[in-house]
Amino acid sequence: MSMYRKLVMLPGPTNVSDRVMNAMITPMINHRSPIAAKLYKEVKEKAQQVFVTEGDIVILSSSGTGGVEAAVKNLVRNGDNVIVPAFGEFGHRLSEQITQSGGKVRKVIAEPGLVPSIDEIEQAFIEVKNVKALFVVYNETSTGTAVRWLKKAGELCSKYGAFFVVDAISNLGGDELPVDKWGVDCAITGTQKCLAAPPGLAIVSFSEKAKKYMIENPPSTLYFDIPRYLRYAESGETPFTTALPLFHALNEALTIIIEEGLDNRIRRHKNCAEAFYSAFTQMGIHPFAEEDARSNTVITLKYPNGVDDLAFRKLLNTKFRILIAGGFGDLKGKLFRVGSMGDVNEYHIITTLTAITAAMSMLEVKGVEEMSSEKIISMMKS
Ligand code: PLP
Repeated sequence: MSMYRKLVMLPGPTNVSDRVMNAMITPMINHRSPIAAKLYKEVKEKAQQVFVTEGDIVILSSSGTGGVEAAVKNLVRNGDNVIVPAFGEFGHRLSEQITQSGGKVRKVIAEPGLVPSIDEIEQAFIEVKNVKALFVVYNETSTGTAVRWLKKAGELCSKYGAFFVVDAISNLGGDELPVDKWGVDCAITGTQKCLAAPPGLAIVSFSEKAKKYMIENPPSTLYFDIPRYLRYAESGETPFTTALPLFHALNEALTIIIEEGLDNRIRRHKNCAEAFYSAFTQMGIHPFAEEDARSNTVITLKYPNGVDDLAFRKLLNTKFRILIAGGFGDLKGKLFRVGSMGDVNEYHIITTLTAITAAMSMLEVKGVEEMSSEKIISMMKS
C-alpha cells in the first residue's frame, strides 16, 4: 500500500476532498433515531436538487450495480419486453441483468465509439410492440460515449406507455439530467463518480408512475424491495442498517454541489472535457469516441502505435502518482480512459497531460507533442 496520495483520474472512483472524507469520522449514531432520520431527510432533499426531481429518492447501501439491480427487479417482470441500447460493456451488462429477471431484451446495438440514434430506438418500439420499458446507459464508461437524445427518448416512452430508466452512474452531477423535465421514471447514480464522494452508495429516483406500479406489483427481492424502502423512509429510516459514514460523506458532497450550483458544475465538467479532447488531439493522441458521441466525463484515447498499456499506466502510477484506467474486453490494450469528474479543474488537466507526455517520452513513443500549461488554460476559457 502506497503511503502517498495519488491523483485519481479514473472513471470512478474519483478524488474525494478532505471535507467529504472528514465527514466520515462523525461519531457513530443509532441508525434508528431522530438524528439519523434528520440525516436521511437532508440527504434525500439535497439529492432531489441534484436529480432535479420532486419524485422520490432512495439511497441504497450498494455500489451502482445494486442501484441498477433495484431498478430492474422493481420495474421488470417475467416476459416483459424491454429495449436496451447497447454500445459498450455497461449496456450489455444491463441487458444481462434484465434477462436474468425474466425480461425479453431487444438490444439496439452500436459499435464501440458510436451510439445508436433515436430513430433506431423508435424503430425498436415499433417492431417490438408492448414495450414495458426503455433502459438506457446515458454515459457508457467503457467507451467514453454518451447519448444526446434522452429528452426525445422520454417523449417516446410517454407516447408508447413505457417506463424510462436511465443509468447515469458515470455522469449525474457532471452532465444534464433534469429527471422530471425529461420524463425519466427512474434514474440511477453511484456516489464515486461525478458526486465526488467515496464508493458504496447508489442513489435511485422514482416517478409517481413507477412508485404506483411497484407498490401494486411488489418485486421478488428483499434487499432491493423499493416499496419497503419507501415505507421506512416515511419515518426517516432505511429497512436495513444504513452505511452511516457514507451517508455523512454523501451529505457533505451534495452540499458542495449545491454550493457550486448544478449548472456551474455541469459547465465546468464540459469545459474540462473539451480541454482534454482538444489538448490530446493537438498532442497527437486521438479520442476513441466519435465527435458527436463524446462523453463529458470519461475521456477515451487511442494508444499511439507501440505503447504497452500496462507499462504506460504503471509508469504514470509509480513515477507520477497518477491513476488512469485501461480498456475493457476487446478494447484492452487499445485505449486508455481518463476520468474528468467530480472536482476536476485546470490543475488536474495540466498535471495529467504533462505526466502523460513525459511518460510517453520515457517510453520513446514517437509523434506525441508537448502541450504548454498556458495553452491548456487558454483552451479552458474558450
Ligand atoms: N453503469 C455504469 C455506466 C458505470 O460506469 C458503472 C461503473 O463504472 C456501473 C454501471 C457499475 O457501477 P458499480 O461499479 O458502482 O457497481
